[in-house]
Amino acid sequence: MDDCIFCKILSNLSPADKILESDRVLVIEDKYPQAPKHYLVIPKKHISDMLSVGEEDRQLVWEMFNAVREVVRKKKSLGEQGFRTVINNGVYGGQTVDHLHMHILCGRPMSWPPG
Ligand code: 5GP
Ligand code: ZN
Repeated sequence: MDDCIFCKILSNLSPADKILESDRVLVIEDKYPQAPKHYLVIPKKHISDMLSVGEEDRQLVWEMFNAVREVVRKKKSLGEQGFRTVINNGVYGGQTVDHLHMHILCGRPMSWPPG
């Protein structure tokens, strides 16, 4: 997708601080962190949101979940303190980048309900 910032990052046309990478997934630091640690789990395939995930994406979804576990393994404080994962969808969901991604937020207590 030409105008998708995450596709540009995935194509190395835009910079990002990479945390880890697998065949189907890239994890980067969020440019505008909302917590002391804020990572984005981004599938390499452009999928606009959760509603667009298909049967053929089963392995990809597993790799997104596995990437979270890998990040926790790498950043020990996440496992010790806990963390929050978020997938925003659509306008009311607060999605601003139309390329499916999972947030990992940590380093401070999270409140509920979310804003
Ligand atoms: P959304 O609002 O769609 O759930 O999440 C998009 C996330 O992407 C936001 O947390 C925002 O800070 C982050 N973001 C937007 N542009 C960039 C960028 O160019 N680089 C990085 N690393 N993160 C970005
Ligand atoms: Zn994209």
